[in-house]
Amino acid sequence: MQTNFSENQLKDKDNQSTEKIFQKCVHCGMCNATCPTYGILGDELDGPRGRIYLIQDMLENERKPSKKVVKHIDRCLSCYSCMTTCPAGVNYMHVIDHGRKYIEKNYDRPLFDKILRNFLSKVLPNTQYFKLTSYLVKIGKLFKFLFPKKIKDMMELMPTSFPEKTIKVKEIYPANGKKIARVGKEDDANIDFINNIETWYEEHKKGNLDAILSNTSGCGTTLKDYGFIFRNDKKLKAKAKTVSELSKDVTEYLSENLKLNIQKKNKKYKIAYHSACSMQHGQKVHNEPISLLQKTDNDIMEIPNGHLCCGSAGTYNILQSEIAKNLLKDKVKNIESTNPQIISTGNIGCITQISNGTNIPILHTIELLDWYTGGPKPKILNKI
Ligand code: SF4
Ligand code: SF4
Repeated sequence: MQTNFSENQLKDKDNQSTEKIFQKCVHCGMCNATCPTYGILGDELDGPRGRIYLIQDMLENERKPSKKVVKHIDRCLSCYSCMTTCPAGVNYMHVIDHGRKYIEKNYDRPLFDKILRNFLSKVLPNTQYFKLTSYLVKIGKLFKFLFPKKIKDMMELMPTSFPEKTIKVKEIYPANGKKIARVGKEDDANIDFINNIETWYEEHKKGNLDAILSNTSGCGTTLKDYGFIFRNDKKLKAKAKTVSELSKDVTEYLSENLKLNIQKKNKKYKIAYHSACSMQHGQKVHNEPISLLQKTDNDIMEIPNGHLCCGSAGTYNILQSEIAKNLLKDKVKNIESTNPQIISTGNIGCITQISNGTNIPILHTIELLDWYTGGPKPKILNKI
């Protein structure tokens, strides 16, 4: 694709790398075929090719983002299904991240939107705030009829119980940032990214860290992208690259490094595996969790149209609840078509979202593997 950045604009390092990505795009539109929002809304501007065009136009013309452009960019799930489909290897993730950063700097969002995004960026990454909000939501549900629909939908998404800590670890270095980045607060997210990089790099240097494991695939995708995010930062780029190289999804690490001592059960289950977008498209980790689950000797089933998002997508089910509900309905229909007794997945966002649409118990892949390697039977399976 032809680009028209001026020499001056190309002094900006972000423009430089995004221009190279634009140049790879041949406008074939194949990506539209697997884009969930294009599938639902049928608008070219709600597909990856259209969004690339909108972002290019904004950046090259230094255009103030219009309400219409922001609407189409905000509707992107960042599921990266388009990246798996694209034959030209266009890194759409980096284009949409650049587009979101530009919008955050140059667009004045309506007041409610601003308050909501700020609220989410403070509450979601903070356990104490999150628990407090959950408690307030529990009380608020008694007066649900007083709230507008958007708030009611958000209340439904709030979990009412939290898992207990079952293992003691010497020190905890919490990873932060992904959900803040999702609402466009890139500068705030970067502070957390830097803390993570410095802490983990120091531990690695002391020989205390062989790998950084993520059991939440949305976060794992971001950890693996630190090297790119800090590519222009002289002080951090080498450390960020090391941290990205050390980052693995927990199932990826188990497949590569450990022989699991699987204890087979008397009963066989039909388990539908839901491959989270951040896992299959973001990290290209798909076969590893399936192979691990197959070792348990249960029937592991892939879900029809498994490349499509369930609608969770970070904060998407809060900010774009109508599209998210459509995606959830389709996802549950596809899961239930395989008639499973259990659903397994590798992302907590998907667990929350899918459990809002079905009564079939849904577990993290690691919870199942833990049970099959001597851990307790997950309580949620007591009825089956
Ligand atoms: S499939 Fe790739 S090359 Fe084709 S329009 Fe989409 S992003 Fe561009
Ligand atoms: S990331 Fe997902 S929703 Fe966004 S353009 Fe690509 S396929 Fe469509």
